[in-house]
Amino acid sequence: MISPLPHEDLGAAWRKARPRPAGRHLDSAASSRQSSRALEAAAHHARHEAELGGYVAEAAADDLLQQGRSVLGGLVGMAAADVAFVESAQAALVALLTGWRLPSGSRVACLPGEYAPNVAQLRTYGLRPQPLPVDGLGRADLEGIARLLAEDPPSFVHLTHIGSHRGLLQPAHEVASLCRDAGVPLVLDAAQSLGHVDVDLGADVVYGTSRKWLSGPRGVGMLFVGPALAAQLTPVLPEPEGEPPMRAFESGEAHVAGRVGLVVAVGDHLAAGPDRVRERLAALGRVTRELLDGVGGWRVVEPVDEPTATTTLRPPGGLDVVETRTRLLVEHGIVTSAIGPERAPGEMTGPVLRISPHLDATVDDLAALAAAL
Ligand SMILES: *Cc1c(COP(=O)(O)O)cnc(C)c1O
Repeated sequence: MISPLPHEDLGAAWRKARPRPAGRHLDSAASSRQSSRALEAAAHHARHEAELGGYVAEAAADDLLQQGRSVLGGLVGMAAADVAFVESAQAALVALLTGWRLPSGSRVACLPGEYAPNVAQLRTYGLRPQPLPVDGLGRADLEGIARLLAEDPPSFVHLTHIGSHRGLLQPAHEVASLCRDAGVPLVLDAAQSLGHVDVDLGADVVYGTSRKWLSGPRGVGMLFVGPALAAQLTPVLPEPEGEPPMRAFESGEAHVAGRVGLVVAVGDHLAAGPDRVRERLAALGRVTRELLDGVGGWRVVEPVDEPTATTTLRPPGGLDVVETRTRLLVEHGIVTSAIGPERAPGEMTGPVLRISPHLDATVDDLAALAAAL
């Protein structure tokens, strides 16, 4: 039995707003398809740069960019002044750690399944990752975390809200409340959750990226820092006179056209209704798991009703996931990702195939994938 998908109007509208796909795009956890409006806004800004000069065009886009900071901030419960545009989620983490200047050896609690590049970044800054307690699937264990925060508090907790290697939604709201009670800052990696699930949860810092579930351009990321923590950060260079402190963490040289495209994409997200978006994405995840579990010997890792659109599949014995991913693309035009255990070596025991449909995907797309597997 396949569950029905809610908000079919939303799927149709999302599809109509985009260029026709060349195949079946089931890879939004890597990079989504942009709307024609977002593409045109970015192209329009690039043309403005040629007509007016890059810096004059940027000044002309100032109001739009400030609106964008305000709307993006609203998605995570923060204000425009708390938002810095950067180039990627990784760049946001680097900007945060650069400004924080924590003493070498400071401990940072994160999930055992933490995204490997994040762990590498923490180590580069001399920080010591320490595992948060989790259950057998890798979900944060709240009682264990309460104990850890009481007995041996780290300098901060770094929580990846939804993994890149597993479509599991972490109980970030509960973790935020435990952290607040313990006086330990919470940094939320929302690269896979902004535009996908609710991210207004009371974290001290949130960071994310444009190109995944918000369906904005590549090469744009966001760092959100609440005022209390922002006051503890020291930027490399002071902020421009009269600007909010977080502006010092924005890269001066930037793909401004990409930021403009993101602002339009966030407008699309709000117009669609974030609650409706979340409901349809969760339903797409459920249908994906219902259709694919057991097909050709592939096994779904996530619980069937996990409220995310991301599903990962373990291969039947001996099958090469990278080759499968290539075969799906070349022979069937189906875009997916092969994720090796190096992505999250503290948790993964082998490679998985990741399926991540956005609102415009259809049951037909997922059935075609099932048939191809
Ligand atoms: C993609 C991803 C990142 C990195 O985002 P970039 O924009 O590529 O730097 C960080 N964390 C998670 C969980 C991700 O999925």
